[in-house]
Amino acid sequence: MLRPVALVLLLLAPLRAFAVETLRIAIEDADGDVRVSGKGLAFGADTEDASFTAIPSGQATIRRRGAKLEVNGAPVVGDSVRFRAGAGATDDAGIPGDEPLKAGTAQVRGDVVVRTYRDGLQLINVIPLEDYLAAVLGSEMPVSFPPEALKAQAVAARTYALQKKLEAYSNAFHLGSSVLHQVYGGVNREDPRTRAAVEATRGQVLTYELAPIEAYFHASCGGRTESGLDALQRDLPYLQPVECPCGKLPASRWKATISDAEVKSALRHPAQGLRVSGRTSTRRVTRVTLGDGASMDGVELRRRLGYTRLKSLDFEVERTDHGYVFSGRGYGHGAGLCQWGAKALADGGRGYREILSHYYPGAELQQLY
Ligand SMILES: [Zn+2]
Repeated sequence: MLRPVALVLLLLAPLRAFAVETLRIAIEDADGDVRVSGKGLAFGADTEDASFTAIPSGQATIRRRGAKLEVNGAPVVGDSVRFRAGAGATDDAGIPGDEPLKAGTAQVRGDVVVRTYRDGLQLINVIPLEDYLAAVLGSEMPVSFPPEALKAQAVAARTYALQKKLEAYSNAFHLGSSVLHQVYGGVNREDPRTRAAVEATRGQVLTYELAPIEAYFHASCGGRTESGLDALQRDLPYLQPVECPCGKLPASRWKATISDAEVKSALRHPAQGLRVSGRTSTRRVTRVTLGDGASMDGVELRRRLGYTRLKSLDFEVERTDHGYVFSGRGYGHGAGLCQWGAKALADGGRGYREILSHYYPGAELQQLY
């Protein structure tokens, strides 16, 4: 039998062939022309060992003609073209540029691939994983959180991204724009504190039975995390309910007053008579029964009433004269790492390794590169 570390390395072997671990993120789809600009702009084929040709003006307009592409009016071979800024600054083939690129409406580090997609064009950011993490960390956790909490978040985000990459390994991109547009602010979201947390944990990922785990995280669990099965239909041994110190924080409590008119239009059922008819072992609502006898899934109820109003499924509901008051705890789905809990643990002197093993019991921290 292979030892765990050996097998993880085997699993990630294709990734390790390159000098730098990269991620491919779909950042934008475009109907018309696309503009890419940057200092020392160059273009080449979309491969790890491509050679790049300088564009002295530093600006490129990419136009689709049928199934072909043109760069500044000149046809190029293939259905995709890769751009890099800072050409000539490095001799290392395969390492995406460090100089920021402007592509469509985004400003990003790394390379940008423009490819034909459906009837138009698609922009994909090819970015070193560690740079990506430095950019997303500030969008996912307040940068004012203690360093050990930021490090725990960095490892969780790295693990999550690598797991998605393995899942979508042969696809044109690994992470889609729908989720990423919200969290991936590109270079504008970097901060020295997020950079430090990413560098301090460089190459570290959580694994279970030889593979990167599905490292879900959320803002606040309200006192007890939820199982992966109940929160996300992911029945995984390292996503089990654990106690969490965030429950003691006043900020984890919320209230939402919702009128009968709003309930009726959101649920498309009579407003009166709504009651909770099912809960998970951590008390989160799985089912509500409506006045006309119909019933609705808790997740669907939260979606319809709004994720920011019904911040979690851990709530009580009370009838008022013209509607309901929902009183709850926590913010988010509740599975995996609780960010406010990680902050509380770090404030209490716990290190990021302890924080991670608290929220992902049984997962192992491994140094992959
Ligand atoms: Zn918590």
